[in-house]
Amino acid sequence: MSKVLIVGAGGVGNVVVHKCAQVPEVFEDIVLASRTLSRCEKIAQDVAALEGRHIEIAQVDADNVPQMTELLTRQRPDVVVNVALPYQDLHIMEACLAAGVPYVDTANYEPKDIAKFEYKWQWAFQERFRDAKLMALLGSGFDPGVTNVYCAYAQKHLFDEIETIDILDCNGGDHGHAFATNFNPEINIREITQRGRYWEDGDWKDTEPLSIKMDYDFPGVGVRKAYLLYHEELESLVLNVRGLRRIRFWMTFGEQYLMHLRVLQNVGMTRIDAVDFQGHKIIPVEFLKALLPDPASLGAGYKGKTSIGCEISGKKAGKARKVFIYNICDHEQCWKEVHAQAVSYTTGVPAMIGALMVLTGKWQGSGVFNMEQFDPDPFMDALNRYGLPWEIREG
Ligand code: NDP
Repeated sequence: MSKVLIVGAGGVGNVVVHKCAQVPEVFEDIVLASRTLSRCEKIAQDVAALEGRHIEIAQVDADNVPQMTELLTRQRPDVVVNVALPYQDLHIMEACLAAGVPYVDTANYEPKDIAKFEYKWQWAFQERFRDAKLMALLGSGFDPGVTNVYCAYAQKHLFDEIETIDILDCNGGDHGHAFATNFNPEINIREITQRGRYWEDGDWKDTEPLSIKMDYDFPGVGVRKAYLLYHEELESLVLNVRGLRRIRFWMTFGEQYLMHLRVLQNVGMTRIDAVDFQGHKIIPVEFLKALLPDPASLGAGYKGKTSIGCEISGKKAGKARKVFIYNICDHEQCWKEVHAQAVSYTTGVPAMIGALMVLTGKWQGSGVFNMEQFDPDPFMDALNRYGLPWEIREG
């Protein structure tokens, strides 16, 4: 019986709270803290209506380390799940160390003024978490997160030697808006407009943004155009998958989405530096976020499915083998269950499972860890049990 404190009352935070509420035998007490209290209130009401559970809420600026530490000291949770924005990661990790609480997140740190995500800032906490005998579990969403666990599962059970990994993320759904992002628009646009990057034969190769593409037949969705992107799990998987020769990440985008993105980029609306506007400084991508639909609001009426997985090739018992390990998730089902769309759902469920692994001691350790460093089996079982069943396509 434990207490979880969730930071961030956005689309993903909503799912984490609902899913924790569905597992009362582990999450006895639930606290939701975020910058805007009214968003916590709305989720609390929804959880009371759908799950019949009462949760506590609190206002916090997670970038204010003393304030965050005070909240943790007062609430004394057994684990913190950070589903605010990547900018808050280091501050929440500092507060967890100060208050002696294990830490789980879904996205790695990036500085606000440079669109660059890297694990180096969070890996730098390694010794401090180890000395404090606390665990920090990084990237417990879908990608990163479930995709890392799929790779660990393939390494443990399906291959003697893994040669290549292609992580493929398809949202085949339709939300009915001309242009919207499925998670925080600022973070999403920063990620997609970066240069592409993949790893092959010991070296990182850089590519022009969205310049490499292929058609891929996604189970449950069909053939879609997938574009090569740089994604954070590549950085840790390169270190933790033995014998790997190449790893790439792909995401599908429709023509309409790309056309809007191109126009927004061309007119400067995706810039992350401050510009003068009528005597004020504004950051165009932050202004754009204010205009775009809130990802948490996309759920009602969203139709179609996501299909995300890892295509892995290598050798088993001396023979060549290729598998695709994947999950299909239905937007409408997610709405029915927890009033969310599938992108928030596929992130929030693994965040809850990450916290469950820590609280039940199925995953144990002191220090900073990526998902593939633990035994994949209990996590894979929990995916089947808590709403993200997986399958394997051979060949
Ligand atoms: P939203 O923008 O919908 O929600 C973010 C929430 O964090 C908001 O409630 C926001 O508050 C709150 N917040 C922001 N700054 C602070 C702060 N300083 N202190 C306290 N709370 C703060 O984002 P999403 O729910 O879509 O995404 C959440 C996280 O999930 C992101 O980090 C994203 O990168 C990650 N993600 C990971 C995926 C994966 O598969 N690994 C996939 C999708 C998302 P306010 O309401 O005041 O703005």
